[in-house]
Amino acid sequence: MSQLATPSERKMIYGGDWRPALDGATFESINPATSAVLGRVPNGGSDDTKAAIDAAAAAFPKWSRLPAAQRAIHLRRAADRLDAQREAIARTITLEEGKPLAESRNEMRLVVDSLHWYAEEARRAYGAWIPDPMPNRRLLTIREPVGVCGAIIPWNVPAAMIMRKAAPALAVGCTMVLKPAEQTPITALVVAEAFLQADLPPGVFNVVTGDPEPIGKSLLGDERVRKISFTGSTAVGRILLRGAAEHIKRVSMELGGNAPAILFEDCDLDKAVDNVAALKFLNAGQACITANRIYVQRSIHDRVAGKLAARAAALKVGDGTRDGVAMGPLIEEEALSKVAALVGDARERGASLLTGGARLVEGDLAKGTFYAPTVLTDMRGDMRMAKEEIFGPVATLYRFDTEEEVIAAANDVPYGLSAYVFTGSMSRAVRVGERLEVGMVGVNDIRIGAAEAPFGGIKQSGLGREGGREGMDEYLETKLLALGLELG
Ligand code: NAP
Repeated sequence: MSQLATPSERKMIYGGDWRPALDGATFESINPATSAVLGRVPNGGSDDTKAAIDAAAAAFPKWSRLPAAQRAIHLRRAADRLDAQREAIARTITLEEGKPLAESRNEMRLVVDSLHWYAEEARRAYGAWIPDPMPNRRLLTIREPVGVCGAIIPWNVPAAMIMRKAAPALAVGCTMVLKPAEQTPITALVVAEAFLQADLPPGVFNVVTGDPEPIGKSLLGDERVRKISFTGSTAVGRILLRGAAEHIKRVSMELGGNAPAILFEDCDLDKAVDNVAALKFLNAGQACITANRIYVQRSIHDRVAGKLAARAAALKVGDGTRDGVAMGPLIEEEALSKVAALVGDARERGASLLTGGARLVEGDLAKGTFYAPTVLTDMRGDMRMAKEEIFGPVATLYRFDTEEEVIAAANDVPYGLSAYVFTGSMSRAVRVGERLEVGMVGVNDIRIGAAEAPFGGIKQSGLGREGGREGMDEYLETKLLALGLELG
């Protein structure tokens, strides 16, 4: 097994070894906080993807037949490697994606935990012995791995996103070819390296970096790839779903969100503001589950707005590797332009700016893509931000009067990933929670993720779930064995 050529020149990993792109092409990974080049990685395409699929297909028969308990030993060894390198990988995430180190460390906790949890859970991929209506026959179901899986992930949670897919897939006996986002390839390669170091059999987990379209087309066009698991925008999800139709591949789609956070007048106001601020400015607002629309009941609106604006203004923004930094940059210039355009649209249509509202360019911040933590109020449903994912550190406040009115407004989007309800009444929380058209509802708490819990959306936010038992089912087929017997 060869090592990295130099820290700044990396290779992709498939078939148990480091590989350059077959045509030798490379591209740069950039630190969004400083615009410094972090390294070069292979710019793979269709031939590289085919070679990785060859490796995954060759590894599948043996890996899938290993007892789950033995696969678990491999996965636990990889988890231990990742755990030992937790701090170094967290630093890589921060350098490449921009989030503060504390957030990257939390992400690494989920990476390690997911591997441990699925290594255990796959040992419980039980079938069933079904009561039979016929004599001399018995009905039995067994659970089998789907096969070779193609995974495509975004940049915003670049390590945990790998493990949300790879941990259940590998634990039940699938093999995988993964394409990371072009903004965060090094994180993916560092995580994949831990599998190499843990002596995972060659071809079980493979990473191809490079051009999305040829890689995506190769994964979709190859009959040996039996499932596509995608996390990213709804627009790209739609393209992949169309492509998956050709060979009727299994799909999991974790797509965009537009989450409402609803603050009723009977909530614990300080706790609600703490939660909403933590959620909104997490990863500079670049999270699918962030609060995109904050609905505040009229009687508490001004107090909430004042406290949230004070929180936003006090956040220390900067390079996430520096001590005390609470919010990092946006991922790239294009993201800054989009956020600025959305804020401009809202202000032109009458939104009031309480704090922020501009790019940050003082001192070292000028080198990166930083946007000020922003709070807008007097928001209305006809503004672009009411319908579109903001993906930036902009808290938008909408006033409401009644429960009926806020449920209708919250549901009036094509997305349905997460929602948050803050209230002192458990009856109201359940009443509203049951009527919100989303896959996940946080009640007086924004922490909705865990290795044990099913994560995912409805409507145009996706298909399927990641995490929990449901996340494992996504990589399993159920086979019926109808046994003709002579039982007398
Ligand atoms: P994106 O543009 O859809 O990209 C996601 C991945 O798809 C990247 O690896 C990208 O590659 C690849 N891709 C783009 N076009 C492709 C094509 N034609 N064929 C195959 N692959 C293609 O999304 P993003 O901007 O990176 O991420 C933000 C989005 O992800 C947001 O909408 C967010 O809500 C969503 N998200 C959802 C969840 C969830 O669990 N529901 C979690 C996190 C993020 P390149 O990077 O090389 O272009």
